[in-house]
Amino acid sequence: MNLKSIGITYLLLSLAPMQVIQAKNGFEPNTANDMKSLATQSVDADVNSKADENPLLTEWKGAFGGTPLFNLVKVAHFKPALESAMAEKLSEVERIAKNSAAPTFENTIAAMERTGRTLDRVEAVYGVWSSAMNNAEFQAVEREMSPKLAAFSDKITQNEALFRRIEAVYNLPEKARLTPEQQRLTWLYYTNFVRAGARLKPDAKARLSQINQQLAGLFTRFSQNQLADESEQFLALKNEAELAGLPQSLRDAAAEEATTKKMPGAWVITNTRSSIEPFLTYSDRRELREKAWRMFVNRGDNGDAHDNNQIITEILQLLAERAKLLGYPTHAHWRLDDKMAKTPERTMELMEAVWKPAVARVREEVRDMQTLADKEKANIKIEPWDYRYYAEKVRKARYDLDQNEVKPYLQLEKLREGMFWVAGELFNFNFTPVTNVPVYHADVRVWEVKDKITGKHIGLWYFDPFAREGKSSGAWMNAYRNQERVDRNITTIVSNNSNFVKGKPGEPVLISWDDATTLFHEFGHALHGLSSNVTYPSLSGTSVATDYVEFPSQILERWLSTPEVLQKFALHYQTGKPIPQNLVDRINRASTFNQGFATVEYLASALVDMKMHLAGSQKIDPDAFERKTLSELGMPGEIVMRHRTPHFGHVFSSDGYSAGYYSYIWSDVISADAYDAFVEAGGPYDKAVAARLRKYIFSVGNTIDTADAYRAFRGRDPKIEALMRKRGFPVNDSKKGKQTLVKPKAKSR
Ligand SMILES: [Zn+2]
Repeated sequence: MNLKSIGITYLLLSLAPMQVIQAKNGFEPNTANDMKSLATQSVDADVNSKADENPLLTEWKGAFGGTPLFNLVKVAHFKPALESAMAEKLSEVERIAKNSAAPTFENTIAAMERTGRTLDRVEAVYGVWSSAMNNAEFQAVEREMSPKLAAFSDKITQNEALFRRIEAVYNLPEKARLTPEQQRLTWLYYTNFVRAGARLKPDAKARLSQINQQLAGLFTRFSQNQLADESEQFLALKNEAELAGLPQSLRDAAAEEATTKKMPGAWVITNTRSSIEPFLTYSDRRELREKAWRMFVNRGDNGDAHDNNQIITEILQLLAERAKLLGYPTHAHWRLDDKMAKTPERTMELMEAVWKPAVARVREEVRDMQTLADKEKANIKIEPWDYRYYAEKVRKARYDLDQNEVKPYLQLEKLREGMFWVAGELFNFNFTPVTNVPVYHADVRVWEVKDKITGKHIGLWYFDPFAREGKSSGAWMNAYRNQERVDRNITTIVSNNSNFVKGKPGEPVLISWDDATTLFHEFGHALHGLSSNVTYPSLSGTSVATDYVEFPSQILERWLSTPEVLQKFALHYQTGKPIPQNLVDRINRASTFNQGFATVEYLASALVDMKMHLAGSQKIDPDAFERKTLSELGMPGEIVMRHRTPHFGHVFSSDGYSAGYYSYIWSDVISADAYDAFVEAGGPYDKAVAARLRKYIFSVGNTIDTADAYRAFRGRDPKIEALMRKRGFPVNDSKKGKQTLVKPKAKSR
């Protein structure tokens, strides 16, 4: 899924070291014992000796260049740590701004890269608590700190003396003698400062800062409301009859959830994607499907204390006002200016080119489902709460493919080993489990990543796979520490997070094909971070434009269905036998099945996002705007937006992805086109193409222009035909389909 910064407007700078990349969607154990042992004995003596010391402010200790001291963190540590770390960074920045020596790259830009080391560490842990360890106590801290973090970020971008120095370096004739990476970094600082208002007059700057602080508060309230509706609302099933149609794994998970909720003897379907979607797919009880569906699509839209509509109106107005202040017609124009797409119009062109064939496909899908329902004498008209249920039946009828037939072969731990194997084949990575580093929850496990050939340490990979209360729904990757070598070699620490349902204790966790795809997707982000080979932290790993960052993750999804992975790792959890070829063939034949649904539910969200942010400063009623926009688009009545506005966290819970949800399809055009490079070369494990992928895409971070990087990898710009083929849409009917994604002379820099 995407990118959000915990430092909220900190991401305005795009220099935020703490990025979270979400999924579009949702044992050799590092057990509780490990946690306890770390908490009690293996703590460094000098930490213990200073009883008052805030563990968030100390250097990370131990092996691998130090790791986060998760085991020592208490919620009460965050506020003082953030305040102290912000003050430290401000004084570091002030020293650079006040330097009496003439501005140079070294004393200004490189010096800036050395600031805020403590804050980076604090924010890395703060981000983990925000996304994976959230509770009421922490939420109070977030509400207080998010406007302060926004104001802090503005204090830096609005520091006039500092900006004059950055601008001076940017205009230095000697700049041409800097390395390309240094020139790119200088350009990035200059651009980000200008985009954040560094050129504005003092009163405009003051207003901008006010807006950013108000936004930060609103973003926090939005996500807290969403989390409340996802954790407080649920569907309780009271008897066997209400479980009709549900597979055993879902029943087990629902029973576990009921135990957690202290409702023994019942079954609980939580109001999150990972529970609701399987329920809608399998429940034979239509009225319960409707109930679950309504609960899920009305998150944040119930007219109660957690309603997000008013917040959305305020956010949209503030974003529009900010864009005007910064000299852009709309927020969408401001947002797109430094992206690969460059303008909202380019994104609309792409989305509209795909929209029509996708809607046409939905009509066919609905017809097929209606025919089947009629044959069963169900006496219904297909409604949104029927779509997944009947799609599954059509899948069975047409492709003889039952998702429950696939699931026994998809063991979470085996697939994880499969991902490791792929990383070894493509990038020469080798993963070994480590237990001597602290984790924040007993579910989290850690692996060391080394180069398979040289044995060189590359980084650490933390894995937090399971759903639990206080954890955001969906799936995401983040980096606790970026790779860099400004002063010394610093290796990266990345994590993958998802919300798989644990099921029965002691049994292997079986996941769906979609979940397996998400698993590979997030691992693609992790490999992007792990492959990083740059000098400066602001350019490291996944710190690339949001419409490019999903390319490495989406392309990695493709290796799940390679015969090598399926033969070695898709093993039946009871027999250990690999998935039969006949089943694989049926999976492949069904690969474009239901793409009308998937594309339309996604594009509806992406189009509403873009149109809301193109609407300017008018006061928007989100419900009315959503209805009007969808009706103008000709949204099929049988589908609802993947994320309706009142819970569209990508767009309203931070400043990173608004007018940016289009990024997934933009990136998917690139990833589909890039995968074809493997196909053309003879297969997904072609060593030469893999080496190019690593050299030009995975390892370069933001050190080169994304369009240039892609051309270096592929020899040309991305074309959209591959995406249309991948989704099973006609290629020739669409003139747009012949276009390349990037205009031939894309503006570089
Ligand atoms: Zn992603």
